[in-house]
Amino acid sequence: MLNFGSRALHRRARLANLIVNGHALNERKLFVYNVIIIGSGCAGLTAAIYAARANLKPFVIDGFEPGGQLSLTTMVENYPGFPDGVLGPDLIDNMRKQAQRFGAEFKAGSITAVDLSKRPFTISAGNESYQARTLIIAAGATARMLGLENERKLVGHGVSTCATCDGYFTRGKEIAVVGGGDSAMEEAIFLTKFASHVHVLHRRPEFRASKIMLDRARANEKIRLVTPVIVEDVLGEPRGAVEGIRLRNTQTNDVTTLPVEFVFVAIGHVPNTKIYRGVLDMDENGYLITRQGSKTNVRGVFAAGDVQDHHYRQAVTAAGSGCMAALDAERFLEDPREA
Ligand code: NAP
Repeated sequence: MLNFGSRALHRRARLANLIVNGHALNERKLFVYNVIIIGSGCAGLTAAIYAARANLKPFVIDGFEPGGQLSLTTMVENYPGFPDGVLGPDLIDNMRKQAQRFGAEFKAGSITAVDLSKRPFTISAGNESYQARTLIIAAGATARMLGLENERKLVGHGVSTCATCDGYFTRGKEIAVVGGGDSAMEEAIFLTKFASHVHVLHRRPEFRASKIMLDRARANEKIRLVTPVIVEDVLGEPRGAVEGIRLRNTQTNDVTTLPVEFVFVAIGHVPNTKIYRGVLDMDENGYLITRQGSKTNVRGVFAAGDVQDHHYRQAVTAAGSGCMAALDAERFLEDPREA
């Protein structure tokens, strides 16, 4: 138990600490960063490397999935410069170190609010607020998942959301693609280059995919379209590698097991743009619209990576657009008309 003297001391220390913290918070609110980058995937980290090398001392707020989608992948074989491939988490880790080496500052946390109505912009992450002259949004898009426990456990061990990344590993194997949209058809067609058979599993008898994509899938003798089925479970635990999926036909209620070694979940992506609704221009699916490189409709706000690209969605294209956003931010800051 504290005696009176030590209790007073303790209280003074606590107050002092609060004042120190309060002061730091105030100072932080007053401090205006040249550039704040939201998101630490390939796009955000490349923007950070370029902005840091331009001496802009960028401040990177990680977002809810630090490292982005690459941190959820295993071997990446299509990123230039790695003839033997590179593990996704290693690639991301190296990019982060590279940005830090040039002075980028990182902060864990997710953005809860933004005020882009005036400059400097205010960005809030919980109780903390930051101000910036320019903002680069590289918050990515999250692949929609089925929401099954074993699906989550087997991501990177047979469950994938990226055919371009993992297709090569399916050589000669029987695999499944879940989804009935253009992505599912495109991935299924692409995967026939490697896999022996591709089962496309869709929950309704009608497909959402465009006629041309559907026709192409139907014409491919390696593809088998299976409807109306829902995936009830991904099998492979505790072995740690996919060995099948359990399906239920929604019309007959028949439950079957399909022996496959890979499951590609292609049921859409959700761009992480909710907090910019009504402020930044976006398409009907929520992807930010960029013009003249990485510019959004708000001057000084730029976007890079999957948050503004549902077409290519590659690590290397995300990195390229991160570079563009940093260069655009740098030019904006140098422009006397924007002072
Ligand atoms: P999408 O068009 O939204 O299709 C998603 C598919 O996944 C739908 O068939 C949907 O079923 C199914 N789905 C969604 N949630 C599910 C769940 N929880 N369980 C099972 N199935 C589920 O998404 P997308 O295919 O990624 O395409 C997105 C946009 O990009 C589209 O505009 C598309 O045309 C475009 N795109 C174009 C191309 C191309 O032209 N080459 C390629 C890829 C994407 P329901 O149909 O029952 O809702």
